[in-house]
Amino acid sequence: MGIDSIFSTPTKTPLADAVNTVTGTIPSTKLGFTLVHEHILSRFGPPAEEPGQYNEADVLEQVVPYLKYINSLGCQTIVDCTAAYFGRNIALLKKISEQSGINILTNTGIYGAAGDDYIPGYAYNESPEKLAARWIDEFENGIQGTEIKPGFVKIGVDSGPLSDIDAKLVRAAALTHRETGLLLQIHTSDNPKAVDQQLQILGGEGVHPSAWVWVHAQNMDSPKALLRAAKKGAWISLDGLRTPNYLNGYADSTSTVNHHLQLIRAFKEEGMLDHILLGHDGSTYPPDGVAKRPMDVLINTFIPMLKASGFTDQEINQVTRQNPAQAFSINVRTI
Ligand SMILES: [Zn+2]
Repeated sequence: MGIDSIFSTPTKTPLADAVNTVTGTIPSTKLGFTLVHEHILSRFGPPAEEPGQYNEADVLEQVVPYLKYINSLGCQTIVDCTAAYFGRNIALLKKISEQSGINILTNTGIYGAAGDDYIPGYAYNESPEKLAARWIDEFENGIQGTEIKPGFVKIGVDSGPLSDIDAKLVRAAALTHRETGLLLQIHTSDNPKAVDQQLQILGGEGVHPSAWVWVHAQNMDSPKALLRAAKKGAWISLDGLRTPNYLNGYADSTSTVNHHLQLIRAFKEEGMLDHILLGHDGSTYPPDGVAKRPMDVLINTFIPMLKASGFTDQEINQVTRQNPAQAFSINVRTI
């Protein structure tokens, strides 16, 4: 241990490399195989509400068996990206985690994508510092009156140049990271200009790009901009794994696995696999009339494709276990 760490300021983090799950704080080494971007509960379409309202018995009946199945495939942890006002229900997520045996991470923040439909009125009037104070309070004291702490910050930005409100959310996220060490998962999609703007805002607050995830990065046609961001330190989330003709009520007509393979191969060739995160943007309990989206494509389809394409077990381990453990560790990353 160097002299710097002996004299470093104590942080609020209880453990080195800790991760907050809905059932408590655990060492990052206990995350295991992790899906980094899923929606166990979501209310896409209906008006914003916080907490999200559900028929609890129906949720448990539908969701728990599916997550037990995902767990039986070898997945130990699901990162739930449903944000505040977008269907987040912490007490219910905890029950789902306990009954399914899967670790679940939830989040703090405000979702600014989807045309700002899920941004509460107060966010327009408050300063970035005030918004960050709300999110830091959830980190220190718990969410929705529970003692459950967020495992990361989730926000979103719309397409085009950052709007004033989206830029404010990014700045509030940077301030929250500096105070808490929580990873910032930011819905950005195929908007590389917004990537540069976000990294600039982070930099202005002294936050390193390794605190930031380019969410829905697979929506870019080419790996070029993704590699450029990764080389600055950013995490690249390829989180739209789908196959067509799904069973058991899980439907999707588009296959995305070949495109994901093309992108991840480019990262392997550049020696940059240590910046990749994987998921489905799956959805186990969407609002009525919206199709469920599966969470088993990575294990059942994509990993066999990676193996057939020459990926080693060690490389697969890296992108499914080691990278999530490092990314979600509560750890302040400054420039
Ligand atoms: Zn999502």
